[in-house]
Amino acid sequence: MSFDADIVIAGGGLAGLSAAITANREGLSTIVLERGEYSGSKNVSGGRMYVHALSQLFPDALERAPLERPVTKETYEIYCEEGKKITFSFQHKTKNSYTILRAKFDQWLAKEAENEGVLISYTTLITNARREKDYVVIETNRGELKAPLVIDAGGITAPVSRFLGVKKLEPKTLMLGVKEVLDIKPEIPENEGEARTIMGLIGNLKGGGFVYTNKDTLSIGVTIKVESLYNSSIPSHEIVERFRESLGLSGNILEYSAHLIPYYGYDKIGKIHDKNLILVGDAAGFLINDGFNIRGMDLAIGSGIIAGKAAKKIKELNDYSRTDIYYEMLKESFVLKDMKTALRSFSVLSEEEVFTKYPKVICNVLGKLFTVTGDGKERPINVLLQESKSENVNTTKMLSDLMRLFI
Ligand SMILES: Cc1cc2nc3c(=O)[nH]c(=O)nc-3n(C[C@H](O)[C@H](O)[C@H](O)COP(=O)(O)OP(=O)(O)OC[C@H]3O[C@@H](n4cnc5c(N)ncnc54)[C@H](O)[C@@H]3O)c2cc1C
Repeated sequence: MSFDADIVIAGGGLAGLSAAITANREGLSTIVLERGEYSGSKNVSGGRMYVHALSQLFPDALERAPLERPVTKETYEIYCEEGKKITFSFQHKTKNSYTILRAKFDQWLAKEAENEGVLISYTTLITNARREKDYVVIETNRGELKAPLVIDAGGITAPVSRFLGVKKLEPKTLMLGVKEVLDIKPEIPENEGEARTIMGLIGNLKGGGFVYTNKDTLSIGVTIKVESLYNSSIPSHEIVERFRESLGLSGNILEYSAHLIPYYGYDKIGKIHDKNLILVGDAAGFLINDGFNIRGMDLAIGSGIIAGKAAKKIKELNDYSRTDIYYEMLKESFVLKDMKTALRSFSVLSEEEVFTKYPKVICNVLGKLFTVTGDGKERPINVLLQESKSENVNTTKMLSDLMRLFI
């Protein structure tokens, strides 16, 4: 049987390109199928990348890649009712994350891949996939391709895995991400940047928001659990608008985009490999949102690198059912280890009170602790119990939920 390549990679985003670069360096022939006119044309991201995985792919990436700003200042804001908010900030000593603009970044990565010899076929839409005895046939708008191994890097829709019946999309395991790029130049030095993580400005929806500083613009956006949109009184197209207005940001909108985000959690990821098939990045469900970080990009690059290396081992065995090799390698990597660590926060962040009642209780408690009237101070524990009661919150459960974010 003759094949079109050792591996066909579905999707030319971060995961697909990282897999292609690695597999190509390992000596495998690789074709990337990308539906967009260029890599990045269909990608959406709030644009803060933890760069450890990128540096693994290119040790000199920080000098060469089109990064916007290092995140040197981290700000966490919890909004309560009546304009009250709790804010805390700190300065990073090391530059472990940078803001990026995906259209620019993905094009750069694709160019790097092509310079190393990777073949990328643009405007190639995967319309179906079927399994033959020892290989997979991918159907596209440009014709069919056959390969003994397919890496599905097609993002949240996981096109090949869906067509092969390995993965399906379920609303309860999805988040909606909506992002805008605003024409507002940050008034801070070029070598500094800020990431704001914001809770409590999207009504009773389960989710949060962010504001990141780019070189000359701001990226703002919200991420919301899809199931919480069902009973929402706020139309989904208005959520980011209201969020922007609440923050008092009024620049021109240069870019608007909405995208689904996987929210499976470690225990619900499901299959990440099958005979002749490996899933990477969003297609596999690799995303961490633990209340402190949104991470999908480093997991996409990391899983792509591992997939490329696993593909080499699988080819050497000449047994394309042995995709478990990928899973074994992944288990030893930060990808699955960090997904596992974040498991508790996934369950905490599924609780509605975390987004609605807890911020109010915390704000009210702090408000009282910082107030002196001369009428005699209550003990902090009594203030906590009173404020929890007035919001109908079980204090023990609240404390245990908050602890679960840390343990
Ligand atoms: C609003 C928002 C904010 C986010 N913020 C952050 C953040 O700050 N930090 C972070 O680390 N992560 C963030 N993420 C998550 C991050 O963007 C993703 O985890 C990451 O992009 C996954 O990369 P990927 O390569 O797996 O998938 P994608 O980037 O989705 O790439 C998939 C590629 O496959 C192509 N494709 C899809 N279907 C087909 C088909 N049928 N045929 C051919 N090609 C196809 C697409 O065109 C695309 O190029 C955010 C996501 C959203 C939506």
